[in-house]
Amino acid sequence: MYSLMKKLFPICRSITGNGNRETLNIIKEIIPINIIEVPTGTKVFDWTVPKEWNIKDAYVLNSKKEKVIDFKTSNLHVLSYSIPTHTTCTLEELKKHLHYLKDLPDHIPYLTSYYKENWGFCISYNDFLNLKEDTYEVVIDSELKNGSLSYGELIVKGLSDKELLFSTYICHPSMCNDVLSGMVVNTFIANYILNLKNTHKYTYRFLFIPETIGSITYLSKNLDYLKEHVIGGYTITCCGDNGNFTYLKTRLENQLTDRVTLHALSNSKINNYKVRDFMTAGSDERQYNYPGIDLNIGSLMRTKYYEFSEYHTSYDNLSFNSEENLCGTLSMYIKCIDIFEFNENFVVNTYCEPHLSKYGLHSDIGGSKILNDSSIILQFLYYCDGRDFLSIAEKLKIPMWELYDLSNILLKNKIIRVESQ
Ligand SMILES: [Zn+2]
Repeated sequence: MYSLMKKLFPICRSITGNGNRETLNIIKEIIPINIIEVPTGTKVFDWTVPKEWNIKDAYVLNSKKEKVIDFKTSNLHVLSYSIPTHTTCTLEELKKHLHYLKDLPDHIPYLTSYYKENWGFCISYNDFLNLKEDTYEVVIDSELKNGSLSYGELIVKGLSDKELLFSTYICHPSMCNDVLSGMVVNTFIANYILNLKNTHKYTYRFLFIPETIGSITYLSKNLDYLKEHVIGGYTITCCGDNGNFTYLKTRLENQLTDRVTLHALSNSKINNYKVRDFMTAGSDERQYNYPGIDLNIGSLMRTKYYEFSEYHTSYDNLSFNSEENLCGTLSMYIKCIDIFEFNENFVVNTYCEPHLSKYGLHSDIGGSKILNDSSIILQFLYYCDGRDFLSIAEKLKIPMWELYDLSNILLKNKIIRVESQ
């Protein structure tokens, strides 16, 4: 996973442009996404798909022709969507276009100006202090033109047409936790699902879209279908730092995605996971959960955006993320997927308790502790009254995954059945 992150790291991405296509094509080498282009000017709900932005180079020269700011050393140096510029100016005039963080004097900030035509550079505060009175030459070799917005989509059909949605954004330049970790984890979740060879219950929809305008565009094209079929899912971001897990709840709360994820977290013997309210949302879940849209999408992260000091700066780099952390997040997502897949509404088939020993359920089958414990088997059956597996596990205070074998044996022996939801 980390090697994919390293490969994607140098690319300059934005909400549109060739960097996004290059990124999507690299992901396509691993999973068979379709790359879709939506033309500039397309109306998408209250928004319009913007012009396409591409950049070749950008720098500021001092009077000795030395580069004092150079896009080629970090693509964060250019305010994203900066219009083409070639001018000379004084330090005072240049300063009007410089952005820095006084409180984090070594960090280059990441800033954008998507919907207001502007140009600018982002530099560390220390570099800003080193700029002398001089005449500066500013070059931004960018292009803002009618083109298109690109996104990637992969739909993996399951036995049911009910869907889980996994969405991540692709629109930031060289940063890891906030952008690349989501893309990498989403790619490997998709890979995991593809390896199940369509034996899974749900259909899975994986999206790689520019944040906000991308999810709005996607919803405007697919809303009716999504509303009818999506039962839950996640926006995936901030997966690679070494912080504890954080779960951002859906707007309506206590939806299936919330119940599944909180069950996985609370039963996984992990320390101090955090739960955040929807009002602190900052990514595409804002659109997916907007009133009237309500796809009930949560977000399972490590340290949440806004809550780490490297966020939106040059310090959110490759050394801030690791293979181990990415794999840990992927495993937690897979645990949630398993819960979704196993979760069914169970109903008993017998009048009164079944004669368990007739089915071998008092003996030592399976070797598992639970399968030898008739009191747990009976407690499980008491709640097979049409409620879902997740509620039964919660009631019994047993992690759902420890009950998978039991539910399979009860189903196989027709002691219980699945009631369609
Ligand atoms: Zn961001």
